[in-house]
Amino acid sequence: MSKYIFVTGGVVSSVGKGITVASIGTILKSRQISVTAQKLDPYLNVDPGTMSPYQHGEVFVTQDGAETDLDLGNYERFIDVSLTTESSVTSGQIYSEVIAKERRGDFLGGTIQVVPHVTTEIKNRFKLLAEKSKADVVIIEVGGTVGDIEGLPFLEAARQMRNEVGRDNILYVHVTLLPYLTSTKELKTKPTQHSVNELRRIGIQPDIIACRSDYPISEEIKNKISLFCDVERKAVIPLTTVPTIYEVPLVLEEEGLGQLIVDKMKLKPQKPDLSQWKELVNLIKTPREPVKIALVGKYVELQDAYFSVREALQHAILHHGRDLELIWVSSETLENSGDDSVLRPVQGIIVPGGFGIRGIEGMVRAATYAREKKIPYLGLCLGMHVMVIEFGRYALGSDEANSTEFNADTPHPVIDFLPDQKGQKIKGGTMRLGNYPCKLVDGSRAAKAYGQSLIEERHRHRYEFNNEYRERLEKAGMVYSGLSPDGRLVEVCEVADHPWMLACQFHPEFGSRPGHPHPLFRDFIGAAKDILREGAQPPLPLSSQY
Ligand code: GLN
Repeated sequence: MSKYIFVTGGVVSSVGKGITVASIGTILKSRQISVTAQKLDPYLNVDPGTMSPYQHGEVFVTQDGAETDLDLGNYERFIDVSLTTESSVTSGQIYSEVIAKERRGDFLGGTIQVVPHVTTEIKNRFKLLAEKSKADVVIIEVGGTVGDIEGLPFLEAARQMRNEVGRDNILYVHVTLLPYLTSTKELKTKPTQHSVNELRRIGIQPDIIACRSDYPISEEIKNKISLFCDVERKAVIPLTTVPTIYEVPLVLEEEGLGQLIVDKMKLKPQKPDLSQWKELVNLIKTPREPVKIALVGKYVELQDAYFSVREALQHAILHHGRDLELIWVSSETLENSGDDSVLRPVQGIIVPGGFGIRGIEGMVRAATYAREKKIPYLGLCLGMHVMVIEFGRYALGSDEANSTEFNADTPHPVIDFLPDQKGQKIKGGTMRLGNYPCKLVDGSRAAKAYGQSLIEERHRHRYEFNNEYRERLEKAGMVYSGLSPDGRLVEVCEVADHPWMLACQFHPEFGSRPGHPHPLFRDFIGAAKDILREGAQPPLPLSSQY
């Protein structure tokens, strides 16, 4: 039977709960304990798929096609597992399920209430993931902050679980913030005490309190939290801000969290092996020669919108022993100003996924720049549409080549709905989502990168390459290096006469892991690192040791 760890948050949001969950996963996995993770999101949307990236950050997609919160990406990267739809639960899903059951008459005339009907549905989701994954430990992050009205049913369900599975099989971890007052130069524990009180009022006494802070936490502060919040002294775990998120598992392990969880949950004791993480963090901290990459997108003000892309670039950069200098370029500014001087120093251009017309012409401009100046280019989903539009304009000699997403009446719809997709105009539930197979063409850059001919990658899009333009673009030098096994869908394309210009219809960024960079990102950086731009010098011998 699986054991459960519930992680709640207090004081403020964005305190690092997601990374704490992911890091607990890492330190348990390093002891040969199998883990999986689940995120409970208290909003009423069924999934974040239709939410603006400005509000929600990136939408992470699982292999089986669930559109989820970006925290799932961190769980996957830290625990190195592929999660499924059961790992993402929202209040919207829970309420629609309960209401559907009521309409079907499943409750036989009963009065439907938050307790027990909604909480039972929530507990079913905990148990479903435990059964399906067969993990030793299921780590569950309760989204939001303790005290929010909408999070109450989740907390109540978490409380009820204690009696169902028994005290040894459940653990409550509360992550809080210790604010620092500059005037008195001290960390304050009062907000933590209040949020623990709030948790207790619901019936949950935390076993462990992880204290996020930008300053070192003294013994005195730890003693105070232990006393006022009624947790063991060794269960007050300092979580001081570190330069890289990949260091958090090492910090938690050093603070004794791994052993504490093993003892409290009576798990099989095993020596942890975090050597790979230590190597990774050492590498990150070593000074390295930078590679300048421009990320051209429309949500660049909120960098969380491209979380997995940034991480995948980071993994690839480390593989080459270099440092990432990421230049965030607003596609809208590029479109409106027409000034591409911001691209002059960059060694590679990446155009990530996105929806809607805003900033598209700026992205096309960046693709023209990459093609003409022979700068490595990687296009991800929308970034492939942009590359095809740009190449289409060049090959067809018409500025009007476009995707019907941006111009429904274009005379050259190089990207379009496929004939069997026409009529799908609703925004929810009409996308190609999750893993689809793709066959790579021998000798292509894509095949070289992957080192295999059949791959599976995660998708999230509606529009496709329009096959009516295949021949004409091919004649001008476009290579279709990845196709669906039936040959109907273009999955990867490349520009032939170019050092490295490749785009894919899928999202490789979701599959990249620290220590195992995704092959397309790895080769993109591999090509970019050797490009010399204006005013640059060849890299110093410093980087040759890698
Ligand atoms: N907007 C495009 C489509 O729907 C691309 C989507 C994406 O980049 N994820 O097909």
